[in-house]
Amino acid sequence: MPLKTPTEYVESLRNMKIRAYIGGEQVENVVDDPSVAPHINTVAKTYELAHMPEHADVMTTISHLTGERIHRYTHIFQSSDDLIKKIQMLRLLGQATGTCFQRCVGLDALNAMYAVSYEVDEDKGTDYHERFRKYLAYVQREDLMLAGAMTDPKGHRAKKPSQQEDPDQFVRVVEQRPDGVVIRGAKLHNTGGINSHEILVLPGTGLVPGEEQYAIACAVPADAEGVVFIFGRQSNDSRKLEGGCDIGNTRFGVVGGEAMVVFDDVFVPTERVFLNGEIEHCAQLVNYFATWHRANYGGCKGGNADVLIGATAKMTRILGTDRNAIVKDKLIEMIHRTETTFASAIGSSALGYKLPCGSFMTDPILANTVKQNITRNVYEIGRLSHDLAGGFLATIPDSKAFDNPEISGWVRKYHTANPEYDVMDRIRVGRYIENMTSVTTMVEAMHGAGSPQAQRIAMLGQADIEGKIKMADEVIYGTNDVPGITLPDVNSSKAPNEEPN
Ligand code: SF4
Repeated sequence: MPLKTPTEYVESLRNMKIRAYIGGEQVENVVDDPSVAPHINTVAKTYELAHMPEHADVMTTISHLTGERIHRYTHIFQSSDDLIKKIQMLRLLGQATGTCFQRCVGLDALNAMYAVSYEVDEDKGTDYHERFRKYLAYVQREDLMLAGAMTDPKGHRAKKPSQQEDPDQFVRVVEQRPDGVVIRGAKLHNTGGINSHEILVLPGTGLVPGEEQYAIACAVPADAEGVVFIFGRQSNDSRKLEGGCDIGNTRFGVVGGEAMVVFDDVFVPTERVFLNGEIEHCAQLVNYFATWHRANYGGCKGGNADVLIGATAKMTRILGTDRNAIVKDKLIEMIHRTETTFASAIGSSALGYKLPCGSFMTDPILANTVKQNITRNVYEIGRLSHDLAGGFLATIPDSKAFDNPEISGWVRKYHTANPEYDVMDRIRVGRYIENMTSVTTMVEAMHGAGSPQAQRIAMLGQADIEGKIKMADEVIYGTNDVPGITLPDVNSSKAPNEEPN
């Protein structure tokens, strides 16, 4: 059965030669680096849960290519039920890790590439889809951790790729060879790439004639010659090097271990190239990816919020405020916002529809609405958590203060609240809340899967305003009513039974 164990995942990474820079220095092996370890541990959970019988239905499924049982993270959505199970999987993993578990970007990129390679072949008579199916079978067989790479640096935001002063601001083909292509450029905010087996590179924007060199989609091993990762800094990340509970989410980290990935003239063989110059299909590729990924947030952030609600509720017990009606009401508000976004994600999946290639797309306007709500609800849930946990979140002493016999008596005594709880419970839970509501987490909720404005623009296009105007006209001016009743005359100011003057 092609399901890796967590240990097999870690060892397979260790055997790769991933070129990565963390803190400005090249690291020997990403697996042994304390900055990456929590993110690797998070992905390992996705492998672990797939082996647990109680989660098999959500975490695994049957490959439509081979009929074998595979990890849901390598699956092409075959039905609305598949889309719903994906959201359930994300909530489960969010609950198990309290953070971003990274594999969804690769999953949605796989699905977008599957659908668009079919559509390009229909349009142009190419053979990308068959090529991609072979690659997909390899990903499923090896149960690979795949990172999707979409976001280009973009340079001057008012200019198209071909208008940039520096042509490398969008990933492009710099050489066409008989056996493949050479790509150059970079992708930013790359979730999980630094601890992935493969990078699926997709265009990050729609393109126009003259921009064919930017219309490139391909798969690159994470340790291919010329691929370089430069790890992003997060707030409080140097605490990971110190150890102890000040880290916050000590085992699983904060968000997805994002990095810049540079493609420094990387050769990609033809069998790994899935789009090469077909500009007309780039916008749809971006659109498919973004729609699936935006719906995800109701699952993963719902699971993360469950952990935060749990930590906040525990903090109220530690403080002794848990019986207060106002405190309870604020917890209810956190629950309400969590379940609202989860319900939208399930709803968008339930209303999924079949694409030309046979796979299933989630309902677009509901998917965009999920993500739009996330840009607000994650902040509001964090605000309520801060409200209930108290100002001490911002002034907790260094965990080493609790170990120093000269001062530990004071910090323990004056941070003890409800004596039923050890003072270190308050510190640990407080650090978790502080870290998981910090700037990195919030910005990720704001900009992951596109900025809020990107969703609003999409929603306006999908809302069918003309159709809504017709609905309004029909209700206000329509005459198609049931016979036998007398209704007010829309052109008269008199009530139906009123006598004329
Ligand atoms: Fe998955 Fe959520 Fe992380 Fe995106 S933000 S990769 S959907 S866990």
